[in-house]
Amino acid sequence: MSRKPIIAGNWKMYKLTGEALATVIALKPLVTNANHCEIVVAPPFTSIKLVADKLEGSNILLAAQNVSGETKQGAHTGEICGDMLYDIGCTHVIVGHSERRQYYGETDGQINRKIRAALRFTLRPIFCVGETLADRDESRAEAVVRDQIDQGLSELTAESLLRIIIAYEPVWAIGTGRTATPETAQTMHAFIRQSLGRKFGAQASETVRILYGGSVNPGNIAELMRESDIDGALVGGASLEAASFARIVHYDR
Ligand code: PEP
Repeated sequence: MSRKPIIAGNWKMYKLTGEALATVIALKPLVTNANHCEIVVAPPFTSIKLVADKLEGSNILLAAQNVSGETKQGAHTGEICGDMLYDIGCTHVIVGHSERRQYYGETDGQINRKIRAALRFTLRPIFCVGETLADRDESRAEAVVRDQIDQGLSELTAESLLRIIIAYEPVWAIGTGRTATPETAQTMHAFIRQSLGRKFGAQASETVRILYGGSVNPGNIAELMRESDIDGALVGGASLEAASFARIVHYDR
């Protein structure tokens, strides 16, 4: 089964509008010939529209970093509805990032609502799962990830799974410089695909893309991408600079 890789950059809470624009202006020419993968960048909300205008007609797709679980506009101060993201050019949205789980108390139930809300507005959720260091040390990494998947994807069909991208991001590897080894990542990716297969059937689970995230950089991406169940990367720190993100996109060179 050949799955088109995805390289996605999560800019987190970095970059004023001018910096966001400068980054995509620098990035565009560096990746115009990258047809081997889909490229996604996720700027902060405040820059999405400006970046979208700059990227029109390019091969770089846009993600938001969060979406409301509400599906109707209404009195929800501070929330952003999926239709608003679609309206300004987003095609993807990151859901359930560990920083949102850890610092903002997002629960699996809320994440499930967000995934369903995103799908309703034809946004593709990039659904993040991953265990903490304590989970791994206490041999429950797979159980934790399986639970996040079961709950996050609750009440979804195999057809909707095809619109979802999974990102396996071990919490201990995010922003720490400590990448999972390709073998550790591959083992968990294969486990995730197996769990999805049990829930949604083999065809959907063989088609879904599973990205790895956690201290990916230009020096380690190629070996990660060699693993059969790693279909791309969700990149934080190393996506902030156009040249380093472009080198990750061109991991095949
Ligand atoms: C992330 O935030 O999704 C991430 C993987 O960050 P980093 O690449 O900086 O570890």
